[in-house]
Amino acid sequence: MSNQPNPRPGQPEGGPLRQMAIWPLLILVMALVVLYANSVNQAGTPLVDYSTLVERVEAGQVTEATILDRSIEAKWRDPARPERTEPAKFQVNRPTGELDRDLPTLLDANNVTFRFKTTSQFASTLYLLGLFTVMILIVTMVMRRANPAERAMAFGKARARQYVERDIKTSFEDIAGIDEARAELVEIVEYLRTPEKFRRLGGRIPKGVLLVGAPGTGKTLLAKAVAGEAKVPFFSLSGSDFVELYVGVGASRVRDLFRQAQQHSPCIVFIDELDALGKARGQAVIGGGHDEREQTLNQLLVEMDGFDSASSVILMAATNRPEILDPALLRPGRFDRQVMIQAPDLAGREAILRVHIRNVKHDPQLELRRLAARTPGFVGADLANVVNEGALLAARRDHQHVLFEDFDEAIDRVAIGLERRSQVITEDEKRIFAVHEAGHAVVATFAEHADPVHKVSIIPRGLTGGVTWFAPANDRHVWTEAQLRDQMACLLGGRVAEQEVLGTASSGASNDIQRVTHLAQSMIVELGMSADLGPINYDHGSARRDPFGFPLTLQRAVSESTAQQIDAEVRRLVEEAEQRARKMLVAHRAELDALTARLLEVETVDRDELRHVLGLPPIDEAAELAVG
Ligand code: ADP
Ligand code: ZN
Repeated sequence: MSNQPNPRPGQPEGGPLRQMAIWPLLILVMALVVLYANSVNQAGTPLVDYSTLVERVEAGQVTEATILDRSIEAKWRDPARPERTEPAKFQVNRPTGELDRDLPTLLDANNVTFRFKTTSQFASTLYLLGLFTVMILIVTMVMRRANPAERAMAFGKARARQYVERDIKTSFEDIAGIDEARAELVEIVEYLRTPEKFRRLGGRIPKGVLLVGAPGTGKTLLAKAVAGEAKVPFFSLSGSDFVELYVGVGASRVRDLFRQAQQHSPCIVFIDELDALGKARGQAVIGGGHDEREQTLNQLLVEMDGFDSASSVILMAATNRPEILDPALLRPGRFDRQVMIQAPDLAGREAILRVHIRNVKHDPQLELRRLAARTPGFVGADLANVVNEGALLAARRDHQHVLFEDFDEAIDRVAIGLERRSQVITEDEKRIFAVHEAGHAVVATFAEHADPVHKVSIIPRGLTGGVTWFAPANDRHVWTEAQLRDQMACLLGGRVAEQEVLGTASSGASNDIQRVTHLAQSMIVELGMSADLGPINYDHGSARRDPFGFPLTLQRAVSESTAQQIDAEVRRLVEEAEQRARKMLVAHRAELDALTARLLEVETVDRDELRHVLGLPPIDEAAELAVG
C-alpha cells in the first residue's frame, strides 16, 4: 500500500518520550551542571589561599567581596598590572570556624564592601533533583534504544491504547464502486447498533469478517466505515507491526488489545495485513521472527475463541493473500465470513472519482465517465491519488478550478507509478481480455450442458486477465460425461475466440489449458469415460487436487503402451472439445463480437445484461426454480 493520500490514524506513533530527541535533554543537563557549579564556584576565576586574601585585604587592594555558601569572590586591583582599569576577580574557599567568624570584621576594617549571597537549601536541592530526573530519563531512553524488545515491552500497553479511534467520521457515503462488499457489511452495522435485537432471536452474528482484496481497494476504508456508521470505537493494528518484535511481545499486545476491546464493546477490532501475522504455521522463515509470529497467531486464536458472542466485539481483518493464511484462522467461529473486494469496473471507478472529487474545486462540466474510462486497473487508492494529483497540477497551473486536462495528466502520472506494479492494462491487452472472456461466456451460454454464466468481467485479478463466473444451477455432486465435455469446451472457448477474432492466441489461456488437461485426464484414468480404455482406474493415488477436486499430478504405474493410449485419448477429448468450441463461436460470431464490444465498454457484464447482449430472453427465475 504505497500510495495513501490519507494518513492512517491507526498506525502506532510511539510514546512522547521516544519522539523527544536526546540532544535537548543532554544540553539541559549541561546547563544544570553549569548552573549548579556556578552557585558553588565561579568557573575561570583564579582560586587563591585564604592567607592571600587576608594579605590583599590588608594591603587595601580588595574593593569588594561576595561571601557565598562555600566560597568568597572578591575583586581587587592588582598592583602588578596597573594598566587594567577594571578590578580583577579571584576566589577563595570559605574558611570555617573562627576565621569565618572574623571575616566580616576584617573586611570592614579595610573598607571592603561585602555582602552575603547564600543559595537557599531549597534551590540547591531542586537543582540536584532536576539533574537526577533528567539523568534517569536519559539512561532509560538509551537503554530502550539499545534494546527494542525492552522498549516494545514497556510501550506495548501504551501503544495499544493509541489504536483506538472514536467518533469516526468515515461513512458508507465515502465508499463507492464496491457495492457488493458494502452490502455484505450493512448487517454488521445493524448488529452493532442494536445487538439486543439480534440476540433476542438467538441469531449468531459472525465474529470475524475477512476482507479479501488487492491493496488500495478500500478494505481499511470499509472497516472504518462500519465503525463510523455504527458509531462504535475502532481498534486497529497491522499484522506487520508484530514482525519485528521479540518473542512474547506480540502475544501480550494482542491480549491487551482484546482486553481493551472487551471493555469498550460494542466495537470493532481491525487487523490489517493479517497475512503478515497469520501465515500458515510451520512455514520456515528466513532470519527468525518465526516463533514470535506463531505465538502471536496462537494468542489471536485464543482471544477469538475466548470472547463470547455476547460481547459485541466484531473482528475484521484485511488480506490480499487469503491462500497463505493459516487454515485455523478460517474455521467456524473465527474468520468465518469472507468478503471479496474486487477492483472497480468502469461505473465503479466513476463513482469513486465522484466521491473524491467532492473535496476539490473542480470544473462543474467535468466528464467523469471519460476520466474513468482512462483508468482500467486503477483501484480506489489510485483514483484518490489521481484526484489529489490533479488538484496539485491545477494549482501549479493557476487554474480557477481543476479541469479535465489536469485530471487527465494526473492519470498519466499515477499510471507511471502503477506500471511498475504492472497493474495497468493497455488498450491492446484489454481487447485480448475482452475477446477471451467473451469466448468463455458465449460457449458457456450456448453449450447445452454448461453451467449458466453469472457474470463476465475483464477487470484483472491476480495473474488472469479477467473472469467468467459460473453459477452452478444447483449444488452438484455428480457430473455427467456431457457436462464435463461442455465444461471443457467452455474452458477452451477463451483461447479459441482469440484465435478466431485476433488470429492468434495469447498466454492468457495457460490456466484454462491446464484445467482442461486435468479434466480430460481424470475423465480417462479415473472416471472410465473412454470407450477404448474402459472403466479402469489408471491413476494410482494422485495426492494433490485442484479446487474442483481433479488431480494435479498423475502418478503412473501403467505400461508404456497404456500410457501412450491414455495420452492419445486425452488428446482426442481435448481436440473434440476445442472443435465444439470453435463451431459454436463461428456460429455465434455476431454475439461474440457484440459481447466483446460491450465488455470493452463497461468491463463487467452480469447475467441479465449478458443474455440481452446475446439476444436471448431473460432467465425466468420462478420457472428455473420449479424445474430445480
Ligand atoms: P486497503 O486497505 O484495501 O489497502 P484503503 O482502504 O487503505 O485500502 O484505501 C486507501 C484510500 O484509497 C482510502 O483512504 C480512500 O481514500 C481510497 N479508496 C480506496 N478504495 C476506495 C473506494 N472504494 N471508494 C472510495 N475511496 C477509496
Ligand atoms: Zn480463460
